[in-house]
Amino acid sequence: MKIILASGNKGKIREIASYCTDHEVLPYSDIIEKFDVVEDGGSFQENALIKAQAVYEKIAPKLSERFIVLADDSGITVPALGNIPGIYSARYAGEGASDKENLYKLIDALKTAELSRTPAYYTAAMAIVTDKGDFTVHGWMHGDVIAEARGEKGFGYDPMFIPEGYEQTLGELDHEIKERLSHRSKALELAKKVIATL
Ligand code: IMP
Repeated sequence: MKIILASGNKGKIREIASYCTDHEVLPYSDIIEKFDVVEDGGSFQENALIKAQAVYEKIAPKLSERFIVLADDSGITVPALGNIPGIYSARYAGEGASDKENLYKLIDALKTAELSRTPAYYTAAMAIVTDKGDFTVHGWMHGDVIAEARGEKGFGYDPMFIPEGYEQTLGELDHEIKERLSHRSKALELAKKVIATL
C-alpha cells in the first residue's frame, strides 16, 4: 500500500519513511502539483485532518491502486503564557516567519512575563485518511522552556526546550535522544498501529 504524505518537508518524509518500512512512502507532490491548504482548524488534530483530506480528494482521481494519506500538525504550548503559541507555532512571529524569529519571540514573551523557566509541551497530531475512514493519533513530549536559546541542534523551539528528566535543551542533546522522546515518534508509533489494521 502507498502512504502519501501531505507534506513536502524532506526531514518529515525521511523520518516517516524510516518508521513505515513495510510500505512505499512518498510525498503528495510526487503525484500532483503542490497546492496551499488553509489550515483554519481550532486544534492540531483538525489541522492535520484538513491537510490529509484535501490531499486525499485531489489524489483519489489520479491513483488506481490502494493508498492512504498521512498528514501531521505540530507545535509547542506554554500553559503559563495562556497556551501560546500552540497551533500558531509555525507562524507565531507572523506569516512566513523563520524558526529563529519564532524562537526569539517566545523567549521575549517569557522574559516579559518574568519567567526564566516554566513547563511546556510539544504536540504532534497525525491524521490518516483512507477508503475505510479517517483516523487521528497524537504524541506529546513534556518538559520546560527557558528564557534563552542554548545549542544548535534540532530546529524550531528546540534550543529553549528542556525535556523532562534532562537538564540540557534539545539544542544541546544528541539527535537520538530527541528521536526517542519526541512527540512525532510517539504519534508515529500509534499511526503505525492504525496503518497495520487497514
Ligand atoms: P507544522 O510543520 O505545521 O507542523 O509546524 C510545526 C511548527 O511547530 C514548526 O514550525 C516549529 O516551530 C514547531 N515544532 C514542531 N515540532 C517541533 C520540534 O520537534 N522541535 C522544534 N519545533 C517544533
